[in-house]
Amino acid sequence: MVETNVLTESSVFGQIAEYQHEQVVFCHDHETGLRAIIGIHNTVLGPALGGTRMWHYTSEAEALNDVLRLSRGMTYKAAISGLNLGGGKAVIIGDAKTMKTEALLRKFGRFVQNLNGKYITAEDVNMTTKDMEYIRMETKHVSGLPESMGGSGDPSPVTAYGTYMGMKAAAKKAFGSDSLAGKRIAVQGVGHVGTYLLEYLQKEGAQLVLTDYYEDRALEAAARFGAKVVGLNEIYDQDVDIYSPCALGATLNDDTLRRLKCQVVAGCANNQLADENVHGPALVERGIIYAPDFLINAGGLINVCSEVQGGNRQSVMTQTERIYDITTQVLNKAEQEGSHPQAAATRQAEERIAAIGKVKSTY
Ligand code: NAD
Repeated sequence: MVETNVLTESSVFGQIAEYQHEQVVFCHDHETGLRAIIGIHNTVLGPALGGTRMWHYTSEAEALNDVLRLSRGMTYKAAISGLNLGGGKAVIIGDAKTMKTEALLRKFGRFVQNLNGKYITAEDVNMTTKDMEYIRMETKHVSGLPESMGGSGDPSPVTAYGTYMGMKAAAKKAFGSDSLAGKRIAVQGVGHVGTYLLEYLQKEGAQLVLTDYYEDRALEAAARFGAKVVGLNEIYDQDVDIYSPCALGATLNDDTLRRLKCQVVAGCANNQLADENVHGPALVERGIIYAPDFLINAGGLINVCSEVQGGNRQSVMTQTERIYDITTQVLNKAEQEGSHPQAAATRQAEERIAAIGKVKSTY
């Protein structure tokens, strides 16, 4: 006899239960070849907002895991930033270079529309502004549009400002002052956010070291901000006060941690800790203050939120500035509890969701 109520780690409901999602929508369309998954993690605080990415996943299980992990991350990012948004994310399975068509994207848009605003989408990996325009033709539940289309435009400058605020709060904790003047800072990745961040750091008089996968980009940024360029793998060995990961995830791992000489890690990249439960505590053991990634890179989400729920540039920047105070709170809380900052930030987000959930329990 087949048991139908056993949830294993690999079963679909097993995974959904593990991450505690409210709803997961599987979207399929034979005509266009659309296979997409929309993960709605938690809508206690508001509609689930998060981007759609298109990726050539090697298996459906990999796609499901990605959407579950990413949508849960959005819940925490919104909650800790004080936003009235829930966490969601969508993935479209397939090669963006060969499979993306107007029809496929519009079909996906119809699935988003069917959710009636419970999920609001945005641009993510392998999606362009043009793609979002197609999705927008079928649903109004699209955010992060260009300013020319009435949207909030490029989130990167706001993300950089929030990261800068988080870095200063962490510096205050580590060095007793939040001034970055004369501080030696290694920036990994000088793309959209990294470049705006460098502007702030240069203005404050930091000594900058940087690297980027694209050598020309690194050289250009170095010339503009008076920084030194180092090789991709050398960035971890620099004699610096602060390491700022602004490129990829999982750069805090077994190999890099033992090489870092800094006292602070604060950058905009998502999912910096290869394994939160291992590398979060390992940073504490090494005496390194870690500014939680999903907290200090929330500026972009704050920007998008203003498009959905109202606000202007000034209110967005004021709200993003609060990342400084929240980072301070989280770092103190971690210290008091004897935990690590990522765990303390996650708990703070969960506590807000639980408290507001109770507020909403009566009409
Ligand atoms: P981007 O693609 O513009 O910049 C990333 C840069 O990192 C690129 O210049 C790339 O060449 C470089 N890079 C890639 N691999 C590298 C490596 N191994 N070593 C050094 N450099 C490498 O992206 P972005 O928008 O600036 O975002 C940077 C990070 O911040 C990403 O992890 C992104 O998910 C996260 N993030 C961005 C925003 C935003 O508003 N753009 C918001 C939240 C989080």
